[in-house]
Amino acid sequence: MLRKSDLSTIIADSNHETDNPLWHGEVYTINQNYTMVNEAESKRVDPKELTFLATHEPCTLCSSANTWSRLDNFYYLFSHEDSVDSLNIGHDLNILKEVFKREPGGCARKNSYRTGYGIVDLVNNCDGDIKAGFVSRIDEVNKTHAECRSGPQLPVEREVAASDRRDVRLLTGESGRSSIPT
Ligand SMILES: [Zn+2]
Repeated sequence: MLRKSDLSTIIADSNHETDNPLWHGEVYTINQNYTMVNEAESKRVDPKELTFLATHEPCTLCSSANTWSRLDNFYYLFSHEDSVDSLNIGHDLNILKEVFKREPGGCARKNSYRTGYGIVDLVNNCDGDIKAGFVSRIDEVNKTHAECRSGPQLPVEREVAASDRRDVRLLTGESGRSSIPT
């Protein structure tokens, strides 16, 4: 989270889902503004003064946290669609489809509560050297992210992977079918 007035960093943190499935990076970081970093209430930064920057477009949990905590913006590098296409993470859209019954998934990036900005879209509107500099930095982030993705899966990813395997067994009639509750 950055201060809008000078873009100074207020809090920077990451995903802690292996400790607690609710500790997505956005939720964990927002929570720190209230409990971990600024213990005195007077030191809390008013959400209206904050710019929220995330690697990924917020999921349903993080979109709700962002909205309920009165942040009026979020900026992301990887969209939900990117997560499916290039990162093989499908649960953002799947949860929107299954729990919230939105087809084909997705969320309202601009609404009366807040506006979401895709960093790639913003970069594409830049000119010349400025755009080239940003593209180079995005490539670096992509590379680092790909390296990090080779690590252990998050619990929800293991479940989705297991579910995918089950669906394949159902379709192909392979032996594993008997382990599926009916
Ligand atoms: Zn999330």
